[in-house]
Amino acid sequence: MYKNVLLNKKSQIYHRSVMKEKQNIGINLFQLAVLLDVDEKHFYNFVINNSVYCFQCRGIASKGIEVEEIYLTERNDIRVQGRCRICKGTVGRLFAFGDKKEFDEKACRLRESISP
Ligand SMILES: [Zn+2]
Repeated sequence: MYKNVLLNKKSQIYHRSVMKEKQNIGINLFQLAVLLDVDEKHFYNFVINNSVYCFQCRGIASKGIEVEEIYLTERNDIRVQGRCRICKGTVGRLFAFGDKKEFDEKACRLRESISP
């Protein structure tokens, strides 16, 4: 009985800290640079400049996009929002970096460093 109570308490605390840890948070360019390794930076820059779909242009934003906001999602992926350089329409792109163990760990450390 006592053991069960203890276990319940523990799982509640665990659950709460995970919830707190895994919010969608806005990050700046400096924080993004800390998270990405060399290959990821190349990939990120390539996508931003050559591979974001623009609904208004009905195709790839061929002159790239102007990034306005960067988020670390609850899954530790990177999501950017910005504008197409041609039509200025709103565009967005998700980078599923959270699937990579090293990135995920770095992202968790970043969350700890900026949580109050
Ligand atoms: Zn466009």
